[in-house]
Amino acid sequence: MSQLKCLNPIILNEGREKSLQRHHPWIFSKAIAKVLGDYEKGATVTVLDSQNNFLCYGLYSPESQIRVRALSFDESVKIDDNLIKSRIENAILMRKRVFDRGNDGVRLVSSEGDLLPGLIVDKYNEYLVISISSCGMERFYKTIVKTLQSNFKDCSIYERSDTKSRLKEGLQKRCGVVSGKEPEDTIYVKEENSVAIPVDIKNGHKTGAYLDQRLSRIRLGALSKGASVLNCFSYTGGFGLWALKGGASKIENVDVSDLALKAAKTGVAFNHLDPGRCKFIKKDVFEYLREQVEKGVKYDVVVLDPPKFAESAANLKKACRGYQDINRLGLMLVKKGGHLLTFSCSGLVDPALFQKIVADAALDAKVDGRVIATLRQDEDHVVSLPCPETFYLKGLDIMVM
Ligand code: SAH
Repeated sequence: MSQLKCLNPIILNEGREKSLQRHHPWIFSKAIAKVLGDYEKGATVTVLDSQNNFLCYGLYSPESQIRVRALSFDESVKIDDNLIKSRIENAILMRKRVFDRGNDGVRLVSSEGDLLPGLIVDKYNEYLVISISSCGMERFYKTIVKTLQSNFKDCSIYERSDTKSRLKEGLQKRCGVVSGKEPEDTIYVKEENSVAIPVDIKNGHKTGAYLDQRLSRIRLGALSKGASVLNCFSYTGGFGLWALKGGASKIENVDVSDLALKAAKTGVAFNHLDPGRCKFIKKDVFEYLREQVEKGVKYDVVVLDPPKFAESAANLKKACRGYQDINRLGLMLVKKGGHLLTFSCSGLVDPALFQKIVADAALDAKVDGRVIATLRQDEDHVVSLPCPETFYLKGLDIMVM
């Protein structure tokens, strides 16, 4: 392919084409030999190998470590508004199964998982929340909004483009109503035709809720009959609500966030569940776990759903120590025959490493634990086959013997 003929060519260093040949979508700055022009932020570029062979079209992020995000590996595809529109519509179609299960909170677009790097769209009842985190996607803002409006005529759209990664892309934060009405401070979103979880679209984490944990919340419900449950890193108490619905005798929600615990309390009332069976504890989880171990308290089920400890490769070791620490303490708090549901949402901690960390924690705790099930993000958080980083949320259901 002639460099001159193609649109905004970028040439890779020799040998750096391999991951692209396997259709992994990220091109890091270190892989690039030459950028043949002063391309605009978010421009469509053509990535070529060192011999000028076509590898992919992608979107250019001049200030980010991930310099290009691939959009198509097919040379005949046109990178335009129609491509983005059809990918959004395909993503929406794929979610039918999750809606049909009786969920009113569904991730409609899951970034790389839907071949739309840098775009998240979540639907909560009659609100769509968009979050754009790359300057390439930013260019398609109007198309994104128009496509969503035409597919969901009765929905309001709110924007939560306030991720840290936006700063790395040289973009400012942007939040607010895009169209329709402003969301109430807390709305309640039904899961599986059952429990409704509290969601704060304007000020909550991410776009308002952790929809990715839906499958594991259901699992906890099924394990909870008559059980005492400790829900660590509870956020707005989704796991706790499912435990109560499943017949838990007692549930303790622990989180450092006042706002999250306040919302968690309203969730109990909204679902007509018994507030007498729940405690809301504002405390650092590490500290609370240590205190309970010292007191010799035991629970039937302990849930550990921490935030992302491994933010970068540089802090991976420290993150692993953090995971091992909470898992050791968590395992010490589980009764014989009881369960630990433990998770990591760090993309850098793969399932094998996570299992090793939990195995080491069990050794330290002198606990014999068995893996009853492996847990994962629900299917609307689509995993891209060539991009394993999109399988970020993994968990284990450990039975203590
Ligand atoms: N399990 C939740 C999501 C958890 S998100 C759900 O299903 O919705 C992680 C939560 O951990 C956040 O609410 C955050 O406030 C809390 N958190 C972070 N560090 C903490 C710490 N050291 N102690 C207690 N809570 C913490």
